[in-house]
Amino acid sequence: MKIPELTPILISKHYTDRQTFLLKKMGIETIEDLMCYFPFRYEDRSKISTLADLILSQETGLIKATVTAHEAFFWQNKRQSKILIQDHSAGAELVPFHIRAIDKMMPIGQEFYIYGKFEFRFNKIQSSNFEFETLDKFSSPLSSLGKLLPIYRLTEGMRLKEFHKILKKAFDLYEKDIIDPIPPYFIKSRNLLSKQECLQQLHYPENIAQTEKARVRGAYEEFLCTRMALELKREQETKILKNHTYDSSSILEEFYKTLPFKMTGAQERVIQEISKDLSTPTSMHRLVQGDVGSGKTTVALAAMLLAAHNGYQAAFLAPTEVLAFQHYKKILPVADLLQIPCALLTGSFSAKNRKPILEGIQKGTLPLIIGTHALFQEEVLYHNLSLVVIDEQHKFGVEQRGMMIRKGENPDILVMTATPIPRTITLALYGDLDISIIDELPAGRQQIITKQIRKNQYPKMLETLQREIIAGRQVFIVCPLIEESEKLENLRSAEQVHQDYKKLFPQYNISLIHGRMSQEEKDLIMKDFSDNKTQILVATTVIEVGIDIPNATVIVVENAERFGLAQLHQLRGRVGRGSHKSYCFAVNQGYEADQRLDIFCSTTDGFIIAEEDLKIRGPGEILGTRQTGVPVFKLANFARDQHILQTATGDAQLIFSQDSHLNLPNHLSLKKFLSLDQEFRVFSG
Ligand code: ADP
Ligand code: MG
Repeated sequence: MKIPELTPILISKHYTDRQTFLLKKMGIETIEDLMCYFPFRYEDRSKISTLADLILSQETGLIKATVTAHEAFFWQNKRQSKILIQDHSAGAELVPFHIRAIDKMMPIGQEFYIYGKFEFRFNKIQSSNFEFETLDKFSSPLSSLGKLLPIYRLTEGMRLKEFHKILKKAFDLYEKDIIDPIPPYFIKSRNLLSKQECLQQLHYPENIAQTEKARVRGAYEEFLCTRMALELKREQETKILKNHTYDSSSILEEFYKTLPFKMTGAQERVIQEISKDLSTPTSMHRLVQGDVGSGKTTVALAAMLLAAHNGYQAAFLAPTEVLAFQHYKKILPVADLLQIPCALLTGSFSAKNRKPILEGIQKGTLPLIIGTHALFQEEVLYHNLSLVVIDEQHKFGVEQRGMMIRKGENPDILVMTATPIPRTITLALYGDLDISIIDELPAGRQQIITKQIRKNQYPKMLETLQREIIAGRQVFIVCPLIEESEKLENLRSAEQVHQDYKKLFPQYNISLIHGRMSQEEKDLIMKDFSDNKTQILVATTVIEVGIDIPNATVIVVENAERFGLAQLHQLRGRVGRGSHKSYCFAVNQGYEADQRLDIFCSTTDGFIIAEEDLKIRGPGEILGTRQTGVPVFKLANFARDQHILQTATGDAQLIFSQDSHLNLPNHLSLKKFLSLDQEFRVFSG
């Protein structure tokens, strides 16, 4: 959530150097940042209880009590005061090591509100950790008791009291300047707090219900503005005409003939959707979602062939060299049959090998190009790039995707996910894209039997492994680390596991692959595994995405408790790719049963897994860090706020359909707001 100001007001204007320094450490640079630095919880100091209740519940709380006597005692050779108090339920002693001259502040006979933790000590009810307020002060706005106290994440050297003062000053000076981006008619019809009320209630809450109302208002704003930004971006994109046309689609029939299988209905439907986009005068911006193994890559290849067949170039961008190589190996025979030149380009190519490929790309003699980050480096100049396919799009940052896309002139863009994305996230963050969903797996795919393995079940699991290998199948073992780490005990490293398995199965060929190896080494190891020369491949998550070895039927994930749900699902997708029954063993080396692993074992549906993952981890972790262009949601919670998201999305579309330039008076502050906001961008290009 943001408060727009045309020129941001730096905090140094109003605060001391020390405060400015500390605030900066908390990521606060402007008054706006400060006002939007929200508490992470509230301490309830509003309810008045009794001493008896506090002792019973052992909670910190608020009482109203009368001072009945003063006593003195000696502690560390100093005279200390004790204040005896009494409410209608019990009596207690205040032993304030931290407050001097307490007797004067709390005279006998006077009543006070006291907030603290009371404990049984030396047969008495005592508190050393408390705050108090006179009855007069208690009812004034300056009181820190009798209300909810917002608690902020602070940096060392910044005390809560000081931060409250800093905030107060900002509100005193600038509250009147806060602009509300939400059109007034929606504030009314959606029963929302105004922006000012929202910020007030978050920092100076009346009660818990109001803080939730404020949070809802903030979440609505975050969703509405994100969606508006996406609608605006989409509209701009649909105005740009591309200067390439695809006239013929006859290549598709020829392509299908080269395949040893029939496309699924879902694949055919998505290819139709893509073909339609390709034939329109504006660029395609489409996201293809599908579960692991649903045949996304095959669909992308169809699109690439359409581009090539019509005289243009298509680039396929993959996140790793292993993947790029594997795609190349699959595409090459098809391209050969169809007599369309095709090349691979990755970062590890020598200058000598690179040269002819770069020339081919520049001259246009290479219509199909597959590769990694190498594809969008400066030296690569395309002749007429009309289609960009980005595989596993979340592995690339906004900048990288932009660089790739700018290699063509308004190219058609197809982005693909590794696993399904939760529906709410699609709605909130991918509103600028058309979505295709492949919701059907190729026929004959085997259900993957998934089991959580505890230590005592490991030997039995090894029997299954051996049985599969004897039947001619192959096995992946995935580990969280490459080598042993002193810090992380109880974690199985790939090197260690590799040694262990060599001892367990001396009769088999067992290889090791991880990210620190050179490309040639990795390629060689993958090739041997692919040719069934090795039976067991011990790996780190380098094999996480896309690796396609249909003869592999078992995947063992060591320390499965360390992996995210979506990642586990992605790993599981490495098996069950052929016609053989397959197994995924999630080895839980943790100390406890794991709820996530239970969910993982209970379903192989990636769409369900995605929703569960969102509930457990939140969108930030699912989508990666800031650099991937995910906007920051401070108040919205994707798992909880689905209905708010739906309302806000609908409202954004309504605003947009009625006033796409936001020129109506009711929309001016929203316009100002959006024009300032650079964060709310998912894709650049
Ligand atoms: P994804 O990228 O969605 O994980 P791929 O496109 O890599 O899936 O396809 C996975 C495997 O299934 C590949 O070996 C591919 O050749 C094969 N495949 C794709 N479509 C079909 C289909 N309709 N029928 C059978 N096998 C298919
Ligand atoms: Mg794929």
